[in-house]
Amino acid sequence: MRNGEVSYWWQALGGFTTRRPSLPGPAEADVCIVGGGYTGLWTAYYLKGLSPDSRVVVLEAAFAGYGASGRNGGWVTAEMPGSRDRYADGPRGAEGVRDLEAALRDTVDEVGRVCEAESIAADFVKGGRLSVATSPTQLARLRAGLAHVRSWGNGDDVYAFLSGEQTRERINVAGALGGVYAPHSARVQPAALVAGLAAAAERRGVEIYEATPVTAISGGAGTAGGAVAQTDFGDVRARAVLRCTEGFTARLPGARRTLLPMNSSMVVTEPLPGATWKEIGWDGFETLSDEAHAYMYAQRTADGRIALGGRGVPYRFGSALDHRGATSPATAVALGQILRRMFPAAASARMEHAWCGVLGVPRDWCASVNFDAASGLGWAGGYTGHGVAAANLAGRTLADLVLGVSSPLTSLPWVGHRGRQWEPEPARWAGVHGLYALYRLADQLEGSTGSPARVAAGEALARVGDLVSGIPH
Ligand SMILES: Cc1cc2nc3c(=O)[nH]c(=O)nc-3n(C[C@H](O)[C@H](O)[C@H](O)COP(=O)(O)OP(=O)(O)OC[C@H]3O[C@@H](n4cnc5c(N)ncnc54)[C@H](O)[C@@H]3O)c2cc1C
Repeated sequence: MRNGEVSYWWQALGGFTTRRPSLPGPAEADVCIVGGGYTGLWTAYYLKGLSPDSRVVVLEAAFAGYGASGRNGGWVTAEMPGSRDRYADGPRGAEGVRDLEAALRDTVDEVGRVCEAESIAADFVKGGRLSVATSPTQLARLRAGLAHVRSWGNGDDVYAFLSGEQTRERINVAGALGGVYAPHSARVQPAALVAGLAAAAERRGVEIYEATPVTAISGGAGTAGGAVAQTDFGDVRARAVLRCTEGFTARLPGARRTLLPMNSSMVVTEPLPGATWKEIGWDGFETLSDEAHAYMYAQRTADGRIALGGRGVPYRFGSALDHRGATSPATAVALGQILRRMFPAAASARMEHAWCGVLGVPRDWCASVNFDAASGLGWAGGYTGHGVAAANLAGRTLADLVLGVSSPLTSLPWVGHRGRQWEPEPARWAGVHGLYALYRLADQLEGSTGSPARVAAGEALARVGDLVSGIPH
């Protein structure tokens, strides 16, 4: 099994794209974007659409799509990248939350629309999302989650309950007791999306410089036009400098405790034979997850494989990063076990590739989009694992904010939202590892049969984890 090499998705494209040149020297721009993932590239793409004469420069430490955008599970989902209740504390209250939900649903279609318009062959299929429960406790949690989203006015057209049989008719997950189907979700090949998006942005005139790490970002201290992104090749001075570095943000001076780099790992099988797919079903290409505390997520790829992910080692001390996507062998084994348990028909399938990446988690688990016109500094991220669609919405929003356009997007409740900083080490490491140890134990206890006391203990442990970590439900 291959391990690392950024991701299977990049290898499936035939390896990395030809590297773009580094920044040739000091430069002036209208907007300088730090980070060439979905957030940075969508922002650049829409900025040039709205303001074709602006000079928009993207500075990328490695290559466009090196980060989570080239490694993720390929769920373009309208799931809220944060807590409805916390966003509702903002000035627009519940109405703002409902607007954000609607905007995220539209965003799934917007990603599909741009793929079509720009001929981005990213295997986009809007087959919805299926969350399955495989134990009575998971089923109870599924129902509670459904009641919660119903209380926000979401009907069957947004989240529909499925019986065990209806669930298995869609995807034959072993032991499925029920599911929730959400139609506003699509499946993509993540690296194909980010590579195609980078090319589309360039066609609009965006300049992308690769192998150009930004070493510091500073604001213009009240004088519009003076924000700076520093690099070893020279500084880029711009009216706006936008930090779009999500899980990598902790490496930048002054932002070490802003977003926690949460690790997520994936494995992919070899292509499965037709007979296996006949048993599994999954003809609708729904994105799939379960209701475990340490949950899994998966997709059926366009080339007939199952790609499945989960948490693995959740966090590395001091916000350290993986080496080019290499994950721990034990994590790859554990993900393979989940896959075989859920899909006995694929039990003999070879695992071909394992990899990992980091996503950004804010202390209050709520994504945000910010721009301060006075300093010229902006940023977006912290999507807590729901960043594929959310980065598109954030990009469109940042573009409006930078251009001073007041739009329905700029009044969404995640705009201007700020969470507190993460705790310093070693509390940060101990907290995250403690949380996932509790979740794993809770999952084990819940999975044990015939002992309500153990199940209740598992649920109680998970609640303790939620309370300490601040994870919203
Ligand atoms: C394994 C995994 C599975 C996931 N699955 C899903 C999913 O199925 N659905 C979903 O919605 N979300 C998922 N996510 C989350 C989602 O992929 C991210 O939220 C999203 O891609 C973030 O995009 P981004 O552009 O903000 O960050 P990234 O894609 O991480 O891009 C940041 C870029 O900034 C660059 N950079 C960092 N520091 C600097 C610097 N100092 N100077 C210049 N450049 C810099 C990096 O090299 C990187 O290319 C997953 C994440 C992972 C890791």
